[in-house]
Amino acid sequence: MRHMVDRGSYSITPKIDAKGVTYPDLAGLYPNKTETEIGELLQRLVENSVLNAKLLDKVIICPTCASASVNSKYNCPRCSSFDIAKASIIEHIRCGYIGSIEKFHKGEQLICPKCKGIVTEVDYRKIGSSFECNSCGSRFEAPRISHKCNSCDDVFTYREAKYEPIFDFYLSEDTKRNLAGGRIPLGSIASVLKKQGYDVGIKADLVGKSGATHTFDIIARKGEQLIVANFTFQPKEEDIIGLFAKKYDIDPTLTLLIALSPPSREEEAVSKAYGVQIIFSSGLTPVGEQIQKLLDKETSSSEVDEGR
Ligand SMILES: [Zn+2]
Ligand SMILES: [Zn+2]
Ligand SMILES: [Zn+2]
Repeated sequence: MRHMVDRGSYSITPKIDAKGVTYPDLAGLYPNKTETEIGELLQRLVENSVLNAKLLDKVIICPTCASASVNSKYNCPRCSSFDIAKASIIEHIRCGYIGSIEKFHKGEQLICPKCKGIVTEVDYRKIGSSFECNSCGSRFEAPRISHKCNSCDDVFTYREAKYEPIFDFYLSEDTKRNLAGGRIPLGSIASVLKKQGYDVGIKADLVGKSGATHTFDIIARKGEQLIVANFTFQPKEEDIIGLFAKKYDIDPTLTLLIALSPPSREEEAVSKAYGVQIIFSSGLTPVGEQIQKLLDKETSSSEVDEGR
């Protein structure tokens, strides 16, 4: 999961080709695991709500060896030969002979196989197209479809085939939250605040005006000053509004949303409207330093207030 975050991609997408269904993103991480084992691992991660799965496609699976590398074939319904061809069927109007146009071709000309007359475009009628078997000569509308496994060479019909779903996997909201919490330098944030003389609580509760209890990832208090902060993966509108609801009930001095990825312009605007400050944990300015700046701004503006 950390590897995914480092690469900035939050989903695992399968590749479907001649080798079957593979997960290229994971093959490098687990060189000793078979595709089946990787599939089982992903399934377990879904069962434990680490990943969510979204149906991407369904594939034909070999009933003998479980490979997804399967070719489909068209067969003659009478003799089962695979040597069948699509044919345009025409009728020679004068003699009534019906057959595939292939049978009329004699060099550059069309010659009727029955009456041997020369056939031009005005002499025949298109009947339609169908299949023709090159082995037994029978003509039919729809071929029988069979599948051949590229791995074990087994040939099977749709009745015997397994038809299985394949999924796109992506990080669940819970996982994103946990990862965000784990990667944000909690210690350095706490130490910046402690240095400023704050009492710092991590994963602590506050009781609001309404009597409801709210949990925050960080609560810091110094006299009248109260800072509350939550972690998030991407600063989504619902996070901002959720935090605003708590802020409204608690009335802190600063309400922070500490995110792993930067906010979009809309999210920036929403956070301004709700009075929630987004701090983006970039490599450039440490989160602790950014909080320090906000505190400095807050202190200077409250001094101006007192001066009035
Ligand atoms: Zn046939
Ligand atoms: Zn004819
Ligand atoms: Zn097989």
